[in-house]
Amino acid sequence: DHGRVINFGAGPSALPLSVLEEAQKGLLNFQGTGMGVAEISHRSKEFQAFLSDFEANIRTQLDVPPTHRILFTQGGGTAQFSAVVLNLLARYRLLRPDAAPADTVLDYVVTGSWSKKAADEARRLGGATVRTVVDARVYSKDGKSFDNVPPHAEFAFSADPALIYYCENETVDGVEFSHDPQSPAAFPFHLLPRDTLVPLVADYSSSFMCRPIPHLADHAVIYAGAQKNIGPAGLTILIVREDCIVDVDAAAKLGATPVPLILSYKTLADSGSLYNTPSVFAIYMAGLVLERMRQNGGLPYYEEVNRRKAKKVYAAIHEGEQKGVFRRKVQQGSESWMNAVFEVLGEGAEKKFLDGAEKRGMKGLKGHRSVGGIRVSLYNAITEEEVDKLIAYMTEFMAEAT
Ligand code: PMP
Repeated sequence: DHGRVINFGAGPSALPLSVLEEAQKGLLNFQGTGMGVAEISHRSKEFQAFLSDFEANIRTQLDVPPTHRILFTQGGGTAQFSAVVLNLLARYRLLRPDAAPADTVLDYVVTGSWSKKAADEARRLGGATVRTVVDARVYSKDGKSFDNVPPHAEFAFSADPALIYYCENETVDGVEFSHDPQSPAAFPFHLLPRDTLVPLVADYSSSFMCRPIPHLADHAVIYAGAQKNIGPAGLTILIVREDCIVDVDAAAKLGATPVPLILSYKTLADSGSLYNTPSVFAIYMAGLVLERMRQNGGLPYYEEVNRRKAKKVYAAIHEGEQKGVFRRKVQQGSESWMNAVFEVLGEGAEKKFLDGAEKRGMKGLKGHRSVGGIRVSLYNAITEEEVDKLIAYMTEFMAEAT
């Protein structure tokens, strides 16, 4: 087992053992080229073929329609906080050349730390009015935490925004939109302005490829850093609708903020995501992960397994809450499948829980430094057996504490 532990970390996070083993071989000799994958040219025919298979694998498994391009870039989710704003402001400028910055509105749905950061970045960039459509803290139990998806009645989108932004899964706070269309915690797609191609942007960093994406075709941009479900850090995957791939220089001539070429979706699209040197190794590993997913049965398989994993963990958290040992942090219905957060009650109890977990070969359970508590990340590489080990430990911990 290479001395490996169970890694419940939030990202970078566990990758499948079979992929790591295969990548070892590729590091020495990529597809019989005699060169390792970290050594080979990104313009070699072998790498370009790998890249196009990788793209096809994403397109097929997620059912991405021909209206949308799949692009690869770097800079993580954080670079996209700016890139989506700059590209969609350029698009809006071309559509509405006379709109004043004050009349150019960016709608942000703020359900956690990451969407808040994205909205803050949009404010930094200027050139538009940043509106918080909803702030989930208003609907929280304590009036200050991100612990819920707000009620649909509160989502008052602007009539003609340059973008509408949400984060599908809030990695730090453990809050996620439900994919059950009947749930009050589902994203209110039915409330979006409908008279134009809606400029809907979703940060899927921590839930990409864990289950199908609802209303994928209605999105302008979906993006995800790879370092959770997909591969190592250093790769960002973008799904961009054609109308959002715009001539940013033409927009700048009309007064839009100039867009650095490397952040421009058109640059990426026109160059087949090879405008500059991409993260060759991260793409390679992510390609292996996608191929393994395909062989396992694709998203229907992962959706079922991930549903069961999350259900088990939340059942244990609820049981602990009834026993006065744990306290859940997220309101019912808004709980993330990928990042389950809770508190361990009592003086020194959290440390005891973490120490006990580590003794049993389970790491990465400490909550994000900004919110504390426990966070169990349940990305695709975490198996059901590994979750069962955690549940056995939680059960043991509850028995000892009561
Ligand atoms: N969005 C979400 C939902 C995230 O979880 C993260 C990182 N954990 C980011 C954005 C920022 O991504 P990066 O560190 O790749 O810039």
